Amino acid sequence: MLILGGTSEARALAGSLSQSGIAVISSLAGRTSTPLLPAGEVRIGGFGGAPGLAAYLEAERIDVLVDATHPFAAVISDNAGAAAAVTGVPLIVLRRPGWSEQAGDVWHRVRELGEAAALLPRLGHRVFLTTGRQGIGEFASVDAWFLARSVEPPEPPMPARLEVVLDRGPFTLEGERRLLTRHRIDVLVTKDSGGPDAKLIAARERHIPVIMVNRPATAPSARTVSTVAEAARLIAP
Ligand code: NAP
Repeated sequence: MLILGGTSEARALAGSLSQSGIAVISSLAGRTSTPLLPAGEVRIGGFGGAPGLAAYLEAERIDVLVDATHPFAAVISDNAGAAAAVTGVPLIVLRRPGWSEQAGDVWHRVRELGEAAALLPRLGHRVFLTTGRQGIGEFASVDAWFLARSVEPPEPPMPARLEVVLDRGPFTLEGERRLLTRHRIDVLVTKDSGGPDAKLIAARERHIPVIMVNRPATAPSARTVSTVAEAARLIAP
């Protein structure tokens, strides 16, 4: 069993399956220097595209492939679909549901970070940016003050007026409220990652507009579940 991970759900699934006595290998991309390691065997680093992943599945005699990567990690998910198709290894996609707008929300849905950057100046000037360090360059030329939160420090290009808070979720509602107030945030930019939503509640309470980047489209072929328990039931009924 190979779990493509990098999410809390992937870690939880590896823990649950390991406890049931199933041999699990978790795969991490190696993006963070201090990753939270799941139970069981762990391998770190890319496979070398879909062909590399297919070769790995065969070499390690993987009987089930679980794509439990982040909803915005579209390349590895496409590779998982292609490698599963070529090798015939069954693929299960574990993907947490996205967020939905609630009463009191002021959301602007966009398709990509560039669209978020273009819309931003019309909505606010003190931005809380929680889209991760990799896409921060998209906002480099936006004339606004940014508070960016990420696990690892971002690298140039970056906005000129930027404060970085290095932190890893989950975050508390009280903490998110404090952050928005202390930095006088007037707009939030986030990806529709799903999961804990304290920042969205805090923004709703303050009537702060949210630019929500939609998820990339994924191939519809695989068996998709939305919870760790469902995935575990499919694998070890
Ligand atoms: P991506 O753009 O979909 O993948 C780029 C390349 O990174 C892949 O082609 C693959 O390299 C390698 N890779 C990605 N995930 C891997 C994994 N679990 N194991 C081994 N190799 C992996 O991915 P990304 O958006 O950079 O995300 C990287 C990792 O961070 C993912 O595992 C994801 O779950 C986690 N993550 C992503 C986000 C996000 O917003 N994108 C947020 C939180 C966590 P090869 O082609 O060489 O195999």
